[in-house]
Amino acid sequence: MTPLVGVLALQGDYAEHEYALASRGVTTRRIKRPADLVGIDGLVLPGGESTTMLKLLAIQELEQPLAAAIEQGLPTFATCAGVILLARSVVEPEQRSLGLLDLDVARNGYGRQIYSGTFDLEVESCRGFESPMRGVFIRAPRVLAAGPSCEVLARRDGDPVLFRQGAILGACFHPELEPQHQVVDSFVASVCAFAAEEQIDEHLARR
Ligand code: GLN
Repeated sequence: MTPLVGVLALQGDYAEHEYALASRGVTTRRIKRPADLVGIDGLVLPGGESTTMLKLLAIQELEQPLAAAIEQGLPTFATCAGVILLARSVVEPEQRSLGLLDLDVARNGYGRQIYSGTFDLEVESCRGFESPMRGVFIRAPRVLAAGPSCEVLARRDGDPVLFRQGAILGACFHPELEPQHQVVDSFVASVCAFAAEEQIDEHLARR
């Protein structure tokens, strides 16, 4: 059985995430309303404009069910605006957030669009990722502080830009925009492991 990943599709680069997952043999479903969350093995919160996403999450009454699914341990991949949605606090300007990632972030913390680009990252050794790693940053959030429950996996000039907290994998950059990026591969591996465990649980429950 191929795993099914829900991609939050209210706004932003959800189509690029769909393409990246499809190229790895993963089936996707667009998440636009609470019922769409039923039965998924993973979740993507794409890049885009976090303010707009917050408004649309409220309109669609999706915020609570989405947060509940993530808190229950659904493998979740958040990129850029997705990280802003999950952070514990957001500044520049201040903005409400779901508080599921132990991070303080500044929106557009690397400057305006002219400062966007591709940068070499420093990979933390022994964390399951390999050097070299590059990251495409587009008006990206900058992490001002990372709490102890958030494990830093890679940095840009010392700033945390790739992290894991429980089943959440977060990137301030856009691995989905590059072919064969190891961060997308890692998310797919965690989704496959989760789907396999679910299948075993279902099988045991039926006996
Ligand atoms: N600047 C956007 C925000 O603040 C994030 C940009 C992105 O997702 N590439 O929401």
